[in-house]
Amino acid sequence: MRRGLMDDEFFLVYQPQVETRTGRAFGVEALLRWRDPERGIIGPAEFIPIAEESGMIQALGARVLRDACRQVAQWHRCGMPMRLSVNLSVQQLQHDSWLSIVEDALASSGLAAGELDLEITESVIITHPDKAVATLAKLKEMGVSITVDDFGTGYSSLSQLNKLPIAQLKIDRSFVSQITQNRSDAVIVQTIIGMGRNLDLEVIAEGVETEAQKAILAGHGCDLYQGYLLARPMPVADFERSLGGPAAPPQAWRFAMRVMICALALCVAGLIASTVLHGCAICARWAATAQGG
Ligand code: C2E
Ligand code: MG
Ligand code: MG
Repeated sequence: MRRGLMDDEFFLVYQPQVETRTGRAFGVEALLRWRDPERGIIGPAEFIPIAEESGMIQALGARVLRDACRQVAQWHRCGMPMRLSVNLSVQQLQHDSWLSIVEDALASSGLAAGELDLEITESVIITHPDKAVATLAKLKEMGVSITVDDFGTGYSSLSQLNKLPIAQLKIDRSFVSQITQNRSDAVIVQTIIGMGRNLDLEVIAEGVETEAQKAILAGHGCDLYQGYLLARPMPVADFERSLGGPAAPPQAWRFAMRVMICALALCVAGLIASTVLHGCAICARWAATAQGG
């Protein structure tokens, strides 16, 4: 894994998030992949626990944040605004340097803090409540928002949850996948959405795969969703294509505009120069005539 990090074998895929009611684009979640030269593409469920145990999660997490911020800032500059969600491990949040890593990633990319959302799981709240609350409060002060990922699968109490500076709940995929068949899962989803509304938290559903699931979520007033119904997590080029073309056209368009402005400025300058020269010639001729006379 250390070699993978050195050799640039890790890369990010992006999954879009949209407003449930309107279908309007809202944001994107960055998800990590490892392209191992021998085994091919490996998912995070396999390597994140190893990275956490070995302490490599710090370097990997910092890299994820920096790359994702840079990519989304570039999309912003190309006229594609979106919020970025990045997953965090418990260990990352515990580390003292984490806040400066976030600050650096925002400063070097130019992404506004308000456009960054960090996803934590309920385990963060349960295992390290005080440290987690302090770090999350500082992140909130910076303008970064916090989402509780896989919500409903952990055992955090409502009082613990209420202490946290969170902005969003993400309903776990396991509830969403059974929402049309299993009545208790449907009730859990409805309860989470109602709770979010009462606590003034945005609610997003993950793992939405069918129109029927989306319709139920929309009926209960779920704010946002993501899932295979909309799109699978995609590498940068595919994501840009899905948005209606690569990021190049806006840049090319801007370049063409600049060329046109330069050409126009040259024409105006030429016109002024020729007028001045013409004026000088008339003056010279007039002076010569006056002398001759
Ligand atoms: P997560 O953050 O809860 O991400 C959702 C997972 O569900 C992703 O799996 C995504 O590919 C998958 N998914 C999305 N839509 C659907 C759908 O409609 N149906 C199904 N069946 N699956 C869907 P992935 O990419 O394998 O990530 C697994 C977990 O690994 C993530 O769960 C997250 O906890 C962790 N992870 C991913 N990237 C990072 C990272 O950069 N840092 C850390 N610390 N953890 C990461
Ligand atoms: Mg997530
Ligand atoms: Mg999740």
